[in-house]
Amino acid sequence: MKKRTLLIFTGPPGSGKGSLSQLCVSKLGFKQVSTGNLCRQEIAKGTQTGEKIDFLIKSGKLVPDGLITQMVYDWFLEQLDDGALVILDGYPRTVRQAELFHKMILDGTFPFRVVVVQLALDDEAIVKRLSSRFVCQNKQCQAIYSANPDANMMPEKEGICDTCGGEVRRRKDDVPEVIRERLRIYHQHAHPLLDFYNRVGYRVFKLDADQPIKNMLHQFEQETDGLAL
Ligand code: AMP
Repeated sequence: MKKRTLLIFTGPPGSGKGSLSQLCVSKLGFKQVSTGNLCRQEIAKGTQTGEKIDFLIKSGKLVPDGLITQMVYDWFLEQLDDGALVILDGYPRTVRQAELFHKMILDGTFPFRVVVVQLALDDEAIVKRLSSRFVCQNKQCQAIYSANPDANMMPEKEGICDTCGGEVRRRKDDVPEVIRERLRIYHQHAHPLLDFYNRVGYRVFKLDADQPIKNMLHQFEQETDGLAL
């Protein structure tokens, strides 16, 4: 039986993983699980776990591997039944997470063929991009916008989400010192993660993230066309 494909979107914060995932959902019928969004939903619930996550996010640190993997696992249990292709956005972020996830691929918990999509963008462009990023505050939506006119991702009405009418604001972790810490942590894990993917035989392809989001979607469609998803 042909296994369903699961795409891991990996890349530095601000490289467009969330924006591209959202386009894949609205235009190509994918399902997206973003661990950043799951974290922000947990914070909004006001649980003790949410409080702990809030502290970590505000300081640019990673949520513990076991906790984030449990959140991904729970999402799959609840959401994975309609046959849609799945994008994992922002997970795994460490080799330990990748190992835990891969174990669930091997033992059949997640019966997927895994393909990694690596979004590449340099640090300077990231800082610029994150400084103009705005996000819908409705935790069920979290649509992404940009105040940069060149990106062509402004909401139609200033401060209001086109999708759900929620309030559009800057993320608390999109401030220079937290961005720097998130980038440091990203670079610490990026190479070991890619080594892991190569070792276990996941196919990896690169997308140029330094281009308008519509062009990225086009490149993504061309690349994935050959994968027979
Ligand atoms: P993102 O929305 O993907 O930029 O994630 C925002 C924040 O959520 C990150 O800076 C981390 O604090 C936390 N987070 C999201 N995904 C993960 C993950 N896979 N592992 C650990 N922490 C994560």
